[in-house]
Amino acid sequence: MIDFNVPPFTGKELDYIKEAIDARKISGDGKFTRKCSRWMEERFQVKHTLLTTSCTHALEMAAFLAGIKPGDEVIMPAYTFVSTADAFVLQGAKLVFVDVRPETMNMDERLIEEAITERTKAIVPVHYAGVACAMDEIMAIAKRHHLIVIEDAAQGVDAYYKGTALGTIGDFGCYSFHETKNYSMGEGGAILFQKDEYREKAEILREKGTNRSKFFRGQIDKYTWVNYGSSYLPSDMNAAYLYAQLEIADEITRDRMRSYTYYQEGLKELADQGYISQPWVPEYAVHNAHMYYIKVENLEVRSRLIAYLHDNSIHSVFHYIPLHTAPAGIRFGRFFGEDRYTTVESERLLRLPMYYGLEEKDLEHVVKTIKSFFIGGGIIAGQAAIGNGNKNE
Ligand SMILES: *Cc1c(COP(=O)(O)O)cnc(C)c1O
Repeated sequence: MIDFNVPPFTGKELDYIKEAIDARKISGDGKFTRKCSRWMEERFQVKHTLLTTSCTHALEMAAFLAGIKPGDEVIMPAYTFVSTADAFVLQGAKLVFVDVRPETMNMDERLIEEAITERTKAIVPVHYAGVACAMDEIMAIAKRHHLIVIEDAAQGVDAYYKGTALGTIGDFGCYSFHETKNYSMGEGGAILFQKDEYREKAEILREKGTNRSKFFRGQIDKYTWVNYGSSYLPSDMNAAYLYAQLEIADEITRDRMRSYTYYQEGLKELADQGYISQPWVPEYAVHNAHMYYIKVENLEVRSRLIAYLHDNSIHSVFHYIPLHTAPAGIRFGRFFGEDRYTTVESERLLRLPMYYGLEEKDLEHVVKTIKSFFIGGGIIAGQAAIGNGNKNE
């Protein structure tokens, strides 16, 4: 079976975890947490980076720091992971979902301004597949209406918008280091921000409402409970695992890009013949090969293709039932305007195996199998009919 995902492992992880254990510091904010944060601050040119236990928790911290209150409205795409929404729902916010652009599956920035009301407090762009949203436009809208921008850059680590790292453009950026992401620590994430004014509040929130971070830096002689908070800091053992990958981030991206390009070139023929559509990257964006997806005619063809790939030992997946159609989405949000693309496009999208170290022979097998489905008779064996009918004539 060709797995859909294999968690990244580069070889140094166990040495670094042992180093953390030997240093007798396996709780949060040890040596490797510091190394990871510094690495990101330098590489992504951002003033503040705090490692968290997940991107979900980074988003939760951002919602707190942004001062989201019950009744506030937050604008986001419906085509995203539930965490994007959960963080704001926990603060009592109402979600306002905006349609996506079909060519990137990112929130359509041209629809945001109309969705703003006097209760709107924040915009949450999600950089789908590590391809940047139109950030100049989004930041200009936010400025005009005094809104906070929180980037869900879970998939956008080491991806760029006009040369600027995703996650460093809005007021807050949130990264994920889940095992399905480009760089991993099992479960983990980070919150990034440029403004000094958020630093102390963020540290307190992350350390159970105490000023313990200040205490560790020797700025105060004992620490105490100063505000509400939670425990959003990961173990240094997890940070040690992550650091082994950050060190060779370029190599990981190069390797993923190799797979991405293989798919893009190998499947071009099918795209040219109209069987599928392929991902597209705007000129302003440099992506990180987080994901490779294709879009097929419709839901029925996708289901048949998934089954056909499975019969040929390939694990492919789809994701994101649009949030506004889920029970919680109906309760906590509303779709602004017309759902022109979110639902239909989400039903067409299929993700192919993509991970660090995916072998060429496996890529070849995936491409060949998809081709045989559409033009080699596989689709007929599966008794599928492609939407507009005459493709096989
Ligand atoms: C993976 C992901 C998350 C959640 O990340 P965790 O680290 O698992 O909490 C949030 N948003 C998007 C868009 C994601 O892809």
